[in-house]
Amino acid sequence: MPAKVFLGSGIISLATAYYTLLQSPSTHIHLIDPSPTPYPGASRKAAGFLAKDWFVPSVAPLGALSFALHRELAELHGGAERWGYADSIGVSLAGIEEGGGRGEGWLLDGTSRATTASSEVREKSAIPPWVVGGGEAEMISGAGTTAQVNPELLCTFLYETLVAQGVEFHLGARAERVVSECGVIVGVDIVSDTGTARHVACDQLLIACGAWSRTVFEHLFPAAETTLSISALAGYSLVVRSPRWQPAAGDAPVACSAVFTIASEAEGGWAPEIFSRRNGDIYIGGLNTCGLPIPAPAANSSVGIGGDELESMLRVSKRLLGEDVEVVKTGLCFRPVTGQGRPVVAGVEAGVAGVWVAAGHGPWGISLSLGTGKVMAEMMAGREAEVDVSGLGIC
Ligand SMILES: Cc1cc2nc3c(=O)[nH]c(=O)nc-3n(C[C@H](O)[C@H](O)[C@H](O)COP(=O)(O)OP(=O)(O)OC[C@H]3O[C@@H](n4cnc5c(N)ncnc54)[C@H](O)[C@@H]3O)c2cc1C
Repeated sequence: MPAKVFLGSGIISLATAYYTLLQSPSTHIHLIDPSPTPYPGASRKAAGFLAKDWFVPSVAPLGALSFALHRELAELHGGAERWGYADSIGVSLAGIEEGGGRGEGWLLDGTSRATTASSEVREKSAIPPWVVGGGEAEMISGAGTTAQVNPELLCTFLYETLVAQGVEFHLGARAERVVSECGVIVGVDIVSDTGTARHVACDQLLIACGAWSRTVFEHLFPAAETTLSISALAGYSLVVRSPRWQPAAGDAPVACSAVFTIASEAEGGWAPEIFSRRNGDIYIGGLNTCGLPIPAPAANSSVGIGGDELESMLRVSKRLLGEDVEVVKTGLCFRPVTGQGRPVVAGVEAGVAGVWVAAGHGPWGISLSLGTGKVMAEMMAGREAEVDVSGLGIC
């Protein structure tokens, strides 16, 4: 059986490879990424908040499937201990109203993800014990509809499983040319950082390069009339520790929370999202910058957070979490955004048959990863997708 080539080693590519092998264990997969380390970008540095039903209608079936798959995978493989899978209560500290419109409008407008939560569960709630200063809170999602994972550890589970199953990872390498015969893809020429060239035979190619997907597509298919309208939106993050939030023991149940709020004008007026993780970490995100140039993928893992952003995030963290928080990690990564609030999960007209795209998941790529992987694996195998993704084509 000819092999499949997957471009990108982020969570979307890993999940697609995982479900491809679950559905058809003898498939040979080559996974290529110019980065010397796998999943160096958004999939490693994201928060890992998962929602069942915070999506635009075209994404809703995929969102619900993916949420169920996250639970199933965690139950099957010890996800609580291995990648921090936990139910998570969503709490708004700022009285964030529902009705911001689902999709990515909130992200591009600099408002909060919490505007996309359903109004059905809204009720007064206690403030999580690791938030200092008191005040009022509102529960905006309950356990059973929101959860969280540590995305880096979930990627590590997928990556190690794929390595054990014989997937060939070509890290520090890129696809230079697609080779076709009679309008059908038959292989890809790849070249490594050290200049070693190799031809990889395949009958299908998946582009899952996150925010780089558009340039990768244009490089490989310069004559194609299709445009992938996927761009990059930079997001900053901090991981801190607090004496008021301790690691859970083993797989014991733990009350993880996702806290959404608004920073004051003096603090920069952004929309902090704060997640208490099973392992005792607290992750702070929500500060984004439009127009920041995206680094070369090989340099992506080492991109650091700058002075002004760090200061702004630290100010908010100390106000909400206490002066005694200790910074463990800072991060900057690039979401692949489409502007329509929905990813592309489809075959693509590239001038040769056998080319697929799974990219543009914006702020929801971790949540939608497993569902995307499963339906993409089904479609690449010529089967009907388990849920309706007909609204996720290229527009
Ligand atoms: C601060 C922040 C917080 C987030 N929080 C959440 C959250 O709580 N919940 C959620 O669901 N989502 C969240 N996201 C979004 C999520 O991280 C992304 O949607 C998701 O990681 C995208 O995965 P990906 O595999 O498409 O892309 P990436 O993880 O970016 O992977 C793309 C890969 O393609 C590789 N690549 C580049 N060029 C090439 C090439 N020429 N050939 C082959 N490979 C190439 C790159 O090196 C990279 O490894 C967050 C994002 C940010 C920035």
